[in-house]
Amino acid sequence: MAVRVASLRPSQPRPGGSALHGAPFGEDDGMTLPGHIINAAGTLTRLSGAPFAPGVADAMAAADAVSVDMVAFHAYAGAKIAAATGAESGLATAGASAGLLLAAAACLARDDVARMNALPGGRGPTEIVVARSHRNSYDHAARVAGATLVEVGLPDPTAEAGRRDVEPWEVAAALGPETAAVYFTATRATYDLLPAVVDVAHAQGVPVIVDAAAELPPAANLRRFISDGADLVAFSGGKVLGGPAGTGLLAGRRDLIASAALQCLDLDVHPADFAPPAGFIDMARYAGLPRHGVGRSAKLGKHEIAGLLAALDCFLSKTDADRHARWLAVCERVAEALEGATIAHAVDTDRIPVVELTFPDAASARARDADLRARPLPVHLGTDPFRPAVLSINPVCLREADIESLLAALSD
Ligand SMILES: *Cc1c(COP(=O)(O)O)cnc(C)c1O
Repeated sequence: MAVRVASLRPSQPRPGGSALHGAPFGEDDGMTLPGHIINAAGTLTRLSGAPFAPGVADAMAAADAVSVDMVAFHAYAGAKIAAATGAESGLATAGASAGLLLAAAACLARDDVARMNALPGGRGPTEIVVARSHRNSYDHAARVAGATLVEVGLPDPTAEAGRRDVEPWEVAAALGPETAAVYFTATRATYDLLPAVVDVAHAQGVPVIVDAAAELPPAANLRRFISDGADLVAFSGGKVLGGPAGTGLLAGRRDLIASAALQCLDLDVHPADFAPPAGFIDMARYAGLPRHGVGRSAKLGKHEIAGLLAALDCFLSKTDADRHARWLAVCERVAEALEGATIAHAVDTDRIPVVELTFPDAASARARDADLRARPLPVHLGTDPFRPAVLSINPVCLREADIESLLAALSD
């Protein structure tokens, strides 16, 4: 199905646009955007992520109006990311997953240019130690770089078999000459474990990579994992930050960020002409200039970097309370119109408030969810594998016009 989206036709030519390319969606009256849905499920990539934060679209258009040296632009973005996270350095990435790929590549190759060229193969440490309970579908990114995941600990709480999850001594026991890094998935349930895991890893000179893709809000998390000692931390740009869906932040140690950058930048240049700012990439550390690296296919364009930086600026200019109040207002409008709806996280400004609809059982929730997704304008609600009788309405991706459609669908 397709739905008319009149607003997609700009009435004015876009800044930086050109007659050469014509109107972005064609000249006919009424352009449709295939796949249009109402997203009340949150910032899911498969539902196209979050709306742009204010200023993002303009920043991307402004970036289109000029050409830039990508190394210089990346260095500037990296400094902004470092300032926002308290890390030594930073790198704009093509998403948190790309950030994790580059983080793994940096820990595998470090300063070794020959190893950069050889990844995902070559000689040298290949193991990345990870708690079984931290494994998830996104850790494939580390394997793409050439890492082998070594699992430790038992997720007894998830299996409902006991109370103990991974313990720092289990991580320590798995470290050895073949270890390139420890991989840590940050969730509210794991935050408190990070400092102890960092301690055992650093005791053996092993860096810690943190997947914090979806850990905003609270804004304090931009700094938290770096301050806890993590060596590289990956965030998504396309979730609550409101940047382009294909962007992310990688923050961390200067040498590892430089290695990550070298492995994703386009390096088709005479080696003598490659002169990045030393604070971003210190070429004195390397035997030479590598070829295009394992991260070259996770390339980021200037438009995405500009959009990401605008989103980061906007995020930093507001408080968690500002964002929470805006989302809560949407939740209240929706909850008021729906019988039996409740609002979760209505008070805790560290979290996203959501409207919850509780059904008699999982089967009826599932059936309702399927009906809503089968409408001419499909409506996607949030679902939770641990609470299958609950459907939720997450306000983050709801545009003003979506709220009417959502309420109409839910009252059908
Ligand atoms: C969303 C997510 C990712 C991937 O982030 P992208 O920016 O889409 O690449 C990785 N890890 C976790 C835990 C996530 O929630």
